Amino acid sequence: MLSADRAGLPLGRRPGKPGTVYLVGAGPGDPELLTLRAAALLPQADVIVFDHLVAPAILDMAREGAERIYAGKQRGNHALPQQDLNLLLVRLAREGKVVVRLKGGDPYTFGRGGEEVAALFQHGVPFEVVPGVTAAAGVAAYAGIPLTHRAYSQACVFVTGHLQDGSMGLDWPALARPRQTVVIYMGLLGLPTLCRELMSHGLPPDWPAAIVMQGTTAQQRTVSGTLATLPGLADAAKLKAPTLIIVGEVVRLRQQLTWFEAPPDDEAIS
Ligand code: SAH
Repeated sequence: MLSADRAGLPLGRRPGKPGTVYLVGAGPGDPELLTLRAAALLPQADVIVFDHLVAPAILDMAREGAERIYAGKQRGNHALPQQDLNLLLVRLAREGKVVVRLKGGDPYTFGRGGEEVAALFQHGVPFEVVPGVTAAAGVAAYAGIPLTHRAYSQACVFVTGHLQDGSMGLDWPALARPRQTVVIYMGLLGLPTLCRELMSHGLPPDWPAAIVMQGTTAQQRTVSGTLATLPGLADAAKLKAPTLIIVGEVVRLRQQLTWFEAPPDDEAIS
């Protein structure tokens, strides 16, 4: 069915269907990182349900009369509990609307997209998932840090650093490995714990690490150092969420690969 829909339509013309929920990734910040599918769907939406990390310039792509519903999801401030949000999407679709559920980054990467789609499936609501550039890909590129590199890193792991009861509950022996990049989402508050655990599980104190605030936006700021120094440097820089932490030898490449921000002045890791 889908392939027939796609057949013969020029790029960006596949229409949004009434009664369908489009779970759309909005990318990490820079509106130019939107997919063509997202850019085509936004002006067709009757209603947009959006999270707090979605850039205002992206919301402005909706048509004037479209309803905009804020779903929140800042740390400790969820405007709508997940269950109510799921039911809201079901109701809006049943009203025959073209519903765009807009999420920061990629909807299936730490975005609870799977839960929302499961609810739609259970209620028999048609849906489509539009991937987005996840923070790891977008922020690393704009920070001058390749996630893998033949000489330094053959694997890349994405984890959530969200603290629960003061602990991260991560598989530390699996993360504290050489030749691997670890990307930590939601890790700012847990940064000291993260660095301490990685060192106590075997990574050296001078292992490179960076934290990037508001990556891909005009406010992007990268602080880089080592597992031993990064918590102090991040604290001194007074960084605020959203931030992404990248740990691994690939961080050193920033010295040469920075293009979006001013070149790094830290000599600590060279
Ligand atoms: N679905 C999103 C992630 C949602 S979790 C994605 O695929 O990117 C939210 C976390 O993503 C933030 O706490 C932060 O760790 C990270 N993040 C999202 N946008 C970011 C940005 N512009 N700069 C730095 N980190 C970002």
